[in-house]
Amino acid sequence: MQLLRGTKDILPDEIVLWQHIEKTASKIMKLANYHEIRTPIIEPTSLFKRSIGNGTDIVNKEMYNFTDQNSREITLRPEGTASIARAFINNKLYKNNTTNRLWYLGPMFRYERPQQGRQRQFHQLGLECIGSLNPMADAEVIRIAHKLLKELGCSNYTMEINSIGQLEERKKYKQSFIEYLEPYINDLDNNSRNKLYTNPLKILDSKDIKTKEIIYNAPCLHDYLDTPSKKHFEKVCEYLEFLNIQYNINKQLVRGLDYYNYTAFEIKTKSLGTQDTICGGGRYDSLIQELGGPSVPAVGWAIGIERLLLIIRDQLNNKIQENKPIVYLAINGQNTEKEILNLIQLLEQKGISYHLDLDNNSLQKQLKKADRQGAKACLIIRDYEITNNCITLKKLSTSEQKQFNIINIDNLIQTLEKMN
Ligand code: ATP
Ligand code: MG
Repeated sequence: MQLLRGTKDILPDEIVLWQHIEKTASKIMKLANYHEIRTPIIEPTSLFKRSIGNGTDIVNKEMYNFTDQNSREITLRPEGTASIARAFINNKLYKNNTTNRLWYLGPMFRYERPQQGRQRQFHQLGLECIGSLNPMADAEVIRIAHKLLKELGCSNYTMEINSIGQLEERKKYKQSFIEYLEPYINDLDNNSRNKLYTNPLKILDSKDIKTKEIIYNAPCLHDYLDTPSKKHFEKVCEYLEFLNIQYNINKQLVRGLDYYNYTAFEIKTKSLGTQDTICGGGRYDSLIQELGGPSVPAVGWAIGIERLLLIIRDQLNNKIQENKPIVYLAINGQNTEKEILNLIQLLEQKGISYHLDLDNNSLQKQLKKADRQGAKACLIIRDYEITNNCITLKKLSTSEQKQFNIINIDNLIQTLEKMN
């Protein structure tokens, strides 16, 4: 049996890295009063159509949709923000009348061409600061992204930021932009041509050289922004400068989802090829209302864990030592099982990790396996130990051997604890 294209098993060797990322994120989030939220992986298809938007690649090409036994249209979530906005409304989280700070980590699904840094099931770690229009909120979420990346040892990146204004401003801009592009319609790349009337802003994002040349002289969205949009953006930039967070203003940065307004940003690394964006985020002040909730502004981001790991894996591997079982339990002979079961409960009580050999091989073989497991010591119970009411401890680094009387097991535990 093969696994599905674009999906991956995450094996125990790698899980330690994931756990480290999760632990670090959880620590940083807690300091800033962000609370973890877990929403379902399946949602009604309409949630994503209404939030992410009908003209977007995600909705048009990338969603995993299916109809369930009761003819409901269901989608495996392609991102986290829409679900959180829905949960925010359904659970009336706005009732507490304060800023709701939430974070999440979980699998997302997009039907894309799998390649390095692009999977069909991937994971995002994200946060949402819901309930404030203050540009301090934008600065806060960006600061936390930087803090997290720094703490995880990721430094080789740049941040691009832009303001995409408000819906009305974008409407006016789209009109001029389309008018500008129409004479070049046949010179645009296919993808951009298809987006000309459905999602023209995404053409700004095109990687095609010819299209890029055409866009170079196009009207600029910034010139269509009104004072509140400009002011908000200036404030965010001012705070980032104060915080010493480097950024480049990229006036062509737009995001792939419809629901953003004002701030949009991306964190890109230089060490990956084309899949170079590790974090994307922005402000979405109208999403919650659009989904039937009250008018509550919000700002957030999501980091792609697989892409992040491509950059920091080696470094993290050096930093994190896998938890090797400290003692290997070797039994050999009759009636040793109950003795070892007693010992295991004692080790557990003392928080000493163990690996019980279940193969009943010769002691020699068991010792070899203990070595391969990276255990520090082996505890041996054979007929000899049963007869003499003792347990033998063998230190694997020195092969030194010592017997401990079962009556006085504390001595053995103390010796093991010192090895921990
Ligand atoms: P891209 O332009 O690379 O397709 P995107 O704009 O679609 O990215 P977002 O929706 O902003 O991505 O998602 C945030 C982050 O999630 C991305 O920056 C990336 O790190 C990660 N991500 C998105 N799609 C995938 C995928 N198919 N496989 C792995 N990671 C992904
Ligand atoms: Mg994408």
